[in-house]
Amino acid sequence: AKADVTRAVCFYESKMDEASRARRSLAQDLRRAIELDQLEPYYQVQTSVLTGDIRGYEVLLRWNHPELGSVPPSEFIPIAEENGLILAIGEWVLRTACQQAVSWHTPYKIAVNLSPVQFAHADLSKLVHEILLETGLSPNRLELEITESTIIADKTRTLHILRQIRALGVTIALDDFGTGYSSLDTLRSFPFDKIKLDRSFMSEVEQSPQAKAIVRAVLTLGKSLDIPVLAEGVETDDQLSILRIEQCDEAQGFFLGRPKPLNQIFRQGPAIAND
Ligand code: C2E
Ligand code: CA
Ligand code: CA
Ligand code: CA
Repeated sequence: AKADVTRAVCFYESKMDEASRARRSLAQDLRRAIELDQLEPYYQVQTSVLTGDIRGYEVLLRWNHPELGSVPPSEFIPIAEENGLILAIGEWVLRTACQQAVSWHTPYKIAVNLSPVQFAHADLSKLVHEILLETGLSPNRLELEITESTIIADKTRTLHILRQIRALGVTIALDDFGTGYSSLDTLRSFPFDKIKLDRSFMSEVEQSPQAKAIVRAVLTLGKSLDIPVLAEGVETDDQLSILRIEQCDEAQGFFLGRPKPLNQIFRQGPAIAND
């Protein structure tokens, strides 16, 4: 039995080594990902619940690794946040998505995710302003998504930066709403332009009366505060029907469209742009 334990521990340690080695080499590869043109923005549609009209697209980053294939952002964004690369990556995504959106010849908005690290270390409002001027994207076509962790990190500073960005005409969405621990305080502190209800509520809304009650409450809250609510993670027709009955404003999820590369997003939509 003792030998078994020893063997198990050795196995465990070598697995740990492997994991940290993999992480280190992933971090090294990531350093060169921008110059090697391995990063690619994907776009996921956001629609009006009432009419089904397209409202905009969330920009979701993909990393096409030459050996590993597509590495999900849940794996490489935390690494990039740890080693500071998120500053270069975040700037690249913002610039590239704005450039691409200008070439669409449509009024759709793009929603770009921001990391808390970008608020802490970059002159964000200046960067956003410069990229808007440089690309010529109309500010009202840009939305920036932040989570509560961004606000909690340094509330005064974050709110100051958000006000500067909003003064440019750019809108701000509160992402993953309902999963943080100070959601209501966050809403009190800043006039968000959109609340994105976390997708964990959608996945349970059909079975769980509790989840449904919370969805309802958030929609009521949004109406009282005059902030539109977007439900994330809509995967079925039934979920969409519930949202229609509950008068949710916007929806996003696999049922409405998966994140797709630029050259595929208009394929099923209106006959426009680079089809
Ligand atoms: P997020 O901002 O909450 O983005 C939504 C995530 O949910 C995306 O995962 C999307 O593919 C996924 N999703 C959309 N619809 C559905 C659905 O119906 N069902 C399910 N199960 N999932 C759905 P993705 O693309 O893997 O991104 C994960 C997270 O990585 C994002 O979560 C965001 O926090 C981060 N991320 C992605 N791109 C960027 C970026 O450019 N910058 C930063 N800072 N973070 C990013
Ligand atoms: Ca998001
Ligand atoms: Ca989200
Ligand atoms: Ca999330």
